[in-house]
Amino acid sequence: MTCNHDAEFSRGNTSILTKRVVLGWYDGPTSGVGQCSGCGTSLMFEMLACDEGQDERVFSLATLHRESLDQLVTTLAPLGSPTWPEWTPKWEFVAGDIQEVVEGTVQGILSQAASPEWVVLTERIGFDDGIGRRVKEVALPLQVDHKTEPSATFEIWSRFIRSAGA
Ligand SMILES: [Zn+2]
Repeated sequence: MTCNHDAEFSRGNTSILTKRVVLGWYDGPTSGVGQCSGCGTSLMFEMLACDEGQDERVFSLATLHRESLDQLVTTLAPLGSPTWPEWTPKWEFVAGDIQEVVEGTVQGILSQAASPEWVVLTERIGFDDGIGRRVKEVALPLQVDHKTEPSATFEIWSRFIRSAGA
């Protein structure tokens, strides 16, 4: 089955991710895994940068395995039942050893992601309000530097994304 998620992400539409598990949160999702409603592919999203007010955010999108979102939901079962379209499990465990196992399994799932293929500038991941661009062939550093304030690199990213097609 062909899916047009490449075109949708390239123009900044992430609303086709109708199932999203949020793993990081700061006034809104900052990282997690979503599933394309068209083809069922799972994709990892991660915030790379944001403006000072945290209103505009730049996310990378990287392809995972088709079953990754389901694996994640199964792994996170000790934290409760998922809610859709978006589930933000509360990171509270009854025992430390369970937490260790769960976090190790989550890392294992996320480590299978391909290199980020799109960057999207959006107010809220999962909504159709963004601008996007493919990045696969572009030599820009995509690593998230957690020591750098996300706002420090926002201008670089937003200029790059806005220049799409220029
Ligand atoms: Zn798709």
